[in-house]
Amino acid sequence: MNILVLGGGGREHAIVWALARSPRTDNLYVAPGNGGTEGIARNVSGLDVEDGRAVLAFAEEHGIDLVVVGPEAPLVAGVADVLRAAGVAVFGPDAQGAQLEGSKTFSKEFMEAHGIPTARYASFTELEPALAYVRELGAPIVVKADGLAAGKGVVVAEDVEDAEEALRDCFDGAFGQAGSTVVVEECLTGPECSLLAFVSGGKAHCMATAQDHKRAFDGDRGPNTGGMGVYSPVPIVTPDELASMHEIMEKAAAATAEEFDCDYRGVLYGGFMLTPEGPKVLEFNARFGDPETQVVLPRLETDLVDIMMAVAEGRPGDIDLRWSEQWAVCVVLASEGYPGSYEKGKVILGIDEAEQIEGVTVFHAGTAKNFDDELVTAGGRVLNVVALGDSFDEAREKAYEACDLINFEGKQYRSDIGKRAAAGRDA
Ligand code: ATP
Repeated sequence: MNILVLGGGGREHAIVWALARSPRTDNLYVAPGNGGTEGIARNVSGLDVEDGRAVLAFAEEHGIDLVVVGPEAPLVAGVADVLRAAGVAVFGPDAQGAQLEGSKTFSKEFMEAHGIPTARYASFTELEPALAYVRELGAPIVVKADGLAAGKGVVVAEDVEDAEEALRDCFDGAFGQAGSTVVVEECLTGPECSLLAFVSGGKAHCMATAQDHKRAFDGDRGPNTGGMGVYSPVPIVTPDELASMHEIMEKAAAATAEEFDCDYRGVLYGGFMLTPEGPKVLEFNARFGDPETQVVLPRLETDLVDIMMAVAEGRPGDIDLRWSEQWAVCVVLASEGYPGSYEKGKVILGIDEAEQIEGVTVFHAGTAKNFDDELVTAGGRVLNVVALGDSFDEAREKAYEACDLINFEGKQYRSDIGKRAAAGRDA
């Protein structure tokens, strides 16, 4: 089979890595890919992955049997719609389904209509009524730009003044069109946990749980980032909570079949908060999480091509998921200054040595080759160092041992990934 993956981050490297292991894969392309995908797939440069017709033309020219969409932007732009209409199998929902991620108002209305537990909210297109609502509810309170803002459009405000400022920023255009509608939400408390599911034909097949670390620095301090580390499974989730999260994902999958014109075929990502009243959905995403994918896929024992084809062709009964008993920990190596501005082009050394450690795989997030064919940094999040181990501590130790062996100027990473899980829920 010939497969095209769209995207170029650590998530896409992990997807490409898992697809490349399948005996069914013949030619594997990734657009644009990165320094890590180069060795196992053909990187395609110059293809506009948000332009459905351009992707279709590439697919037709290269006899592509399956297109896997990594990031949200092409989904929201309707790339899957164009491909499906032309008869190409696609892993990823149509634009309407992608609105579950593309519009927080749409997503909240969907949850409300289908009895999915989530924070109380109201949605606004004008500043004054939004300010009045914030003053009425009081702090802490959460302000969210409605559209895609790469994780930067959410403010958890500790006091009313901060919430007012966040509202003004949104309506003043800090997030462009994405902030012209704003969702104001009740502030929930509890640990967070992600549960991703393969969804097709209104059925959800849940994957393993994972917990991301969004803040830049140790002790969950500093600004929010795209994610600085993650582990799977999440030991603090109780069996009752897990059952209720599964139930919620199944309900959401069934609701996609009821509500959308086209069958939702792809990943539905549930971002949960484990509140004292039970798990509630903070957000849905319409694709694999980054970096959750980097710890979930290495634990998947069944063939990802079989799964993705079953999803793309609407055969949920053929989805077979088996998970390894091992633990996975991923530490993100970032460029100095990330998530603010950072320099690129720093030579990276030591990946081969790190991968000599049993169970260690290094997924590339922001890397490229320079003119001298050296591997260099090319993004804020540079590498995802993943380790599998028979215990949580073993996986953690191996991941950090591997991080020490890799070097580039300005290497920055958190030293406490998974510490909370190891310490227990109330720590
Ligand atoms: P991303 O896609 O990067 O996860 P996003 O912009 O879609 O982010 P959300 O996931 O909705 O935004 O929120 C980002 C973070 O803000 C959450 O992971 C959580 O830590 C916090 N958060 C969001 N909503 C609430 C809430 N109602 N109560 C408390 N914290 C919240």
